[in-house]
Amino acid sequence: MAVYQYTEDSLRKHLLNLYEISCRAGGLDCGVRLNEAGREVASYLYENMREAGLDNVRQQFFTTARWWPEEYSLSIHEDGQDKPIVAFPLWYTKGIENTVLEVVDVGYGTSGEMRGKDIKGKAALLHMKRIFHFIQTFERTGALEKLLKRGAAAVIVMDELHNVPGGMLAVSHKEVMKSGGKVAPIFPLPCMSIGKTDGQELLRRMATGKALVKIHLKVSVSEAEASNIIGEIPGNGESPEIIIVGGHYDSWFGGALDNLASQAGLIELARHFASLPLSKRPRKIIFASIFGHEFGNQGHMALAEELRPFKDRITCFYDVDGSGSIGWEVDHEGRIFETGYNDICGIVASSNALAKLAYQALYDHDIFSIRFYDNAHIADLDGPLSELGIPTLLLISKHIFYHTPLDTPDRIPPELVKKRMDVNRQIISELLTSPPQYYIATNTNPFRDQSPQAPKLPDISNEELPVNPRPWVDGPPKDLLFEVIPEKPRVFSPVIVWRSHFVSEGIATISDISWSFGNLLEKIFPKMRQGPATGTIYLLPGTKTIRMFVKDRHGRVSSVERKIKVTW
Ligand SMILES: [Zn+2]
Repeated sequence: MAVYQYTEDSLRKHLLNLYEISCRAGGLDCGVRLNEAGREVASYLYENMREAGLDNVRQQFFTTARWWPEEYSLSIHEDGQDKPIVAFPLWYTKGIENTVLEVVDVGYGTSGEMRGKDIKGKAALLHMKRIFHFIQTFERTGALEKLLKRGAAAVIVMDELHNVPGGMLAVSHKEVMKSGGKVAPIFPLPCMSIGKTDGQELLRRMATGKALVKIHLKVSVSEAEASNIIGEIPGNGESPEIIIVGGHYDSWFGGALDNLASQAGLIELARHFASLPLSKRPRKIIFASIFGHEFGNQGHMALAEELRPFKDRITCFYDVDGSGSIGWEVDHEGRIFETGYNDICGIVASSNALAKLAYQALYDHDIFSIRFYDNAHIADLDGPLSELGIPTLLLISKHIFYHTPLDTPDRIPPELVKKRMDVNRQIISELLTSPPQYYIATNTNPFRDQSPQAPKLPDISNEELPVNPRPWVDGPPKDLLFEVIPEKPRVFSPVIVWRSHFVSEGIATISDISWSFGNLLEKIFPKMRQGPATGTIYLLPGTKTIRMFVKDRHGRVSSVERKIKVTW
């Protein structure tokens, strides 16, 4: 049998088929969730994994709590008239029945922005950006909890970039996972998301008087069934090790990039590896399409239980996510621009040995990439697979339209999706033929088995990571941009910053991005290094200069500054 080679067209066909199913419900109701599209996409993946020639293809069913918005609406309420706004609820929030509320602007939810504001019994208009395209700023400011404490009656999350609402949880993944997904953790405030222009309309009304909204959200919680789709490619028995290749298939809306293109890729990669002669398959490969990442990693928990008995034999869980986007970032005026590169491909790995594999493949295919996080737990997107302690590797690229209805197929060109699959193919091939136990022994996953019998080898150093043979930039890092919130900071209240864009050679870790705030405080308080965004607090008003430094792997440093005005 000839070895199967996928093409741009074969990948595109699956993507468009999956996207069509995902969008059938229309508007904000589309998405692969605990709904009809979820069941249909599961069947599609099941049929196509069988068709691809995998063995033992099965649906791993599990039950989970299903929070569902049965009815939702938001309108501007004026002179007894209601003017509807396009709004979408945050998952796992409490309902509210046709209630008219006064709106209060709480900025990004920092203490300074809320200072002196009467929030009790009102609908808080909360501004929101996404740090690195995917972390909602309210997760960093703790705004939802603060608003709950301050007695808000509801929250309206306003997207600062897009004119559409977004999909997001009101609670953390951890909160959902606490009960094994069996209980929906209800956040006790109704929360809705809206787009930028509708938010600005509310702000305009507030500037000249009172803004009132009518908010309605009817939710149900029930028990539902969902499934992971799992298939195997047997090895020739040479090695007892197993490679897991997976990715989530659920989505907020259409989800072309997040994560249906990767699902199209999994089908085609499965078909490719299943067609290899047995002699070229020393290890078994398990392919898994996993349900529920967006809603709290329910499928990841079920899959982890199935893998647990043989976790010590897993070479790697390779997580395929966000495949093939054009790069967009935000400039210092807050405008979105095309970078001229692919969207930065982030490498998250539980060892440098695995990161090396990823760098090599990305360099070989000319995909602009950096190391995202020092936190290997993220390699499983906060999930239970990395908690098994197994080696984990994630390549992820989430463009700026992520988790909105703007995540459409036209933003992910066929040639970029194909390139990412070629990277995946190279990485899986290397894992398949890697020396016995090499990735298991070099694994530095904090959850790994520390028993004396567990094989152990020193991990490689940052210096041993490969050098880009076709540098992205000849000199030091260039085109540096960063974001700052809030726009009008006040004393004794956090200012939060994160990089928007730069082009640089081989950033190894997040600590290669550093900051100065023109502030004595940064010398007193240790910088918040754990997270992807950092910041400071100013004690005196005035004009402040914030500077971001980026160091490349050759030690060359560039910087960029912005001035902000801090008031009492
Ligand atoms: Zn997502």
